[in-house]
Amino acid sequence: MADPATGETAVEIVEVSPRDGLQNESRLLYTEDKIALVERLAAAGARRIEAASFVNPRRVPQMADGEAVMAGLSGRTRARLIALALNETGLRRAIAAQADEINYVMVASPGFGLRNQNATPEQSAALFETIAPLAHEAGIPLSVTISVAFGDPFDGEVPHGVVAELAARAAGAGADEIALGDTIGVADPWDVRRRLEAVRAAAPGTRLRVHFHDTRGAALANIHASLEAGVRIIDASCGGFGGCPFAPNATGNVATESVVYMLERGGLSTGIDLDALIATARWLEERIGRPAPSLLLRAGGFPSSSRGSP
Ligand code: ZN
Repeated sequence: MADPATGETAVEIVEVSPRDGLQNESRLLYTEDKIALVERLAAAGARRIEAASFVNPRRVPQMADGEAVMAGLSGRTRARLIALALNETGLRRAIAAQADEINYVMVASPGFGLRNQNATPEQSAALFETIAPLAHEAGIPLSVTISVAFGDPFDGEVPHGVVAELAARAAGAGADEIALGDTIGVADPWDVRRRLEAVRAAAPGTRLRVHFHDTRGAALANIHASLEAGVRIIDASCGGFGGCPFAPNATGNVATESVVYMLERGGLSTGIDLDALIATARWLEERIGRPAPSLLLRAGGFPSSSRGSP
C-alpha cells in the first residue's frame, strides 16, 4: 500500500515501550535496563524512541529516573530520543535533559484529563500555547498527542469537533506533529478515518501520527485505516506492553513486532529488523517478569523468522 500521492513505501515507527510500555508495570525496571532497552531498539532499527517522561515522580514512580535514562543515552544512540511532558516543569526538565524531541499531551475529554494531568481539554490546549515557545526557543521539535481522542473511560464518547479543535490549536501554537491517541483502545477503523479527516482539515500540512492500544483487538485494523488515510507515522510498543495508570483497563499498546510484520508483509518498509525486535521483546519479558501480550511473539515471523517454540 504505497502512498497514493507519492508512491512512498516507508513507514516510520515511533517505539514507545520505554515510556508507555513500562509506566503501568508493577515491577520497576532498573535505569540500566531502560537504557539497554532503548539501545536494543535502536540497534533493531528504531529511529525515534520515546525514552522518558518528565512527570510527577510521586504519581508515576516508574518514570522517576527520566534524567538518568536520558543522561545514559544522550550522544550514544542513533535514535532520536523523545521525552514526554505534561506541563511547564516537565517541558523544562525535558529541555535540560537534551531530549531530541518533546511530546506534549492534550486531553480530548475532562474525565481522563483531570485524572491524568489535572486539566480539561481547554486547559491542556491553553497550557500548550503558553509553554510551546520554550521548546521553540530551545530549538527542539515538539509534537502533541491528543489522548483519549477516540473515547474517554469516564465520559464515554468524544466528539470529533473537540479533537479537531485541539489539533487546530496544537498546529497554531507550532506543533510539528500531531498524534491521535486511542488511550483505552476503543477506536474502530471507520471512525479512525473520519477523525483523521477532521484533524487534517483542522491542521492542514501538519504531520499526523497515530497511537493505538490493542485493548479490544482492533489496533492493527485501525493502523490499516490510518495508512489508507495517508498517515505514515505509527506508535508501537515492543512486546505489546503498555497501559495507563489513570485509565482503568487500558491494556497493551499495539505490539511493534506485529505492526512491523504486517507492514513488511504488505510491501511497506519500516527499517526495523523483526528478529532483533522479537529478541528484544523476549528480553523485556524477563525484565518485566510476565509474558508479553504480543501474539506474534508466540508464533514468530513468516517466512523463516524467529519461532516462539519448535
Ligand atoms: Zn498509550
